[in-house]
Amino acid sequence: MACGARLTYVTRFAPSPTGPLHLGHAYSALTAHDRARAMGGTFLLRIEDIDPQRCKPEWEAQIISDLRWLGLTWAPVVLRQSERLTAYRAALDRLTDLGVLYPCRCTRGDIRAALSAPQEGVPLTGPDGLIYPGTCHHRPMTDAGPQDAIRLDMARALALIGPPTWTEGCQPPTGIRHAKSPVTTIGDVVLARRDFGTSYHLSVVVDDAAQSVTEIVRGEDLAEATPIHVILQALLQVPTPNYWHHILIRDKNGKRLAKRDDARALALFRAEGATPADIRRLVGLSDTPIGTWP
Ligand code: GLU
Repeated sequence: MACGARLTYVTRFAPSPTGPLHLGHAYSALTAHDRARAMGGTFLLRIEDIDPQRCKPEWEAQIISDLRWLGLTWAPVVLRQSERLTAYRAALDRLTDLGVLYPCRCTRGDIRAALSAPQEGVPLTGPDGLIYPGTCHHRPMTDAGPQDAIRLDMARALALIGPPTWTEGCQPPTGIRHAKSPVTTIGDVVLARRDFGTSYHLSVVVDDAAQSVTEIVRGEDLAEATPIHVILQALLQVPTPNYWHHILIRDKNGKRLAKRDDARALALFRAEGATPADIRRLVGLSDTPIGTWP
């Protein structure tokens, strides 16, 4: 069987509506869409709008308009994470039963202060910033209240599931990946924020499983988070998809594009008369595969 081939191929593009799509997003969406098309599979659109402060309906409308303009088509059901809080709550309950969660009331300032103690040495950072020093580690979940975030006890999780492995990349194949010492390089990450009761890590794992995603195509900036996702999949006993972390599109100074770089917004290229084929060429993709399945 070809690399990445499964009986049913499902991938997704999962933007957060916190700003306009730029060339980097176009590259990511087009790469996933081309791949689904080549595999005769399904391409899903998922709106990752768990953060009510940062996500705006007008950005969602702009994203959908830009993706349609690019020529992309997706399965009719568009999952919206803001409507999935019950599913995330159920996953947290399962993890609570496994004894791998604890509540945490530390602010960023508390964490910085704890890590600045002389005996702590140079603070380490992981995918979510400073590695949590474990101040609230002793607290039981029965103590959790509205002021608490919920953290994953990484050491306990690994004791249950063993070292996480996953398959990375298909073209070229780069093979099986192992997480290097997640306790020290990732630490006890937040799985549910106190303000909206979930996190990117938890939601993405729950939804990829619910949508039977078989391959995750996304930028290499998210590769660091993948061990967390693979650990959660093992704990929740859902399949681990293949991962394909693609290169990032950078500006002429080599800086990676971010949503705040409005100069690169797809909407501006559109307004200046660019065509979808121009966008494909700009991000280094060949001309042909836009459009519906043959
Ligand atoms: N929502 C994430 C973003 O916009 C992407 C998540 C993912 O592909 O796993 O960066």
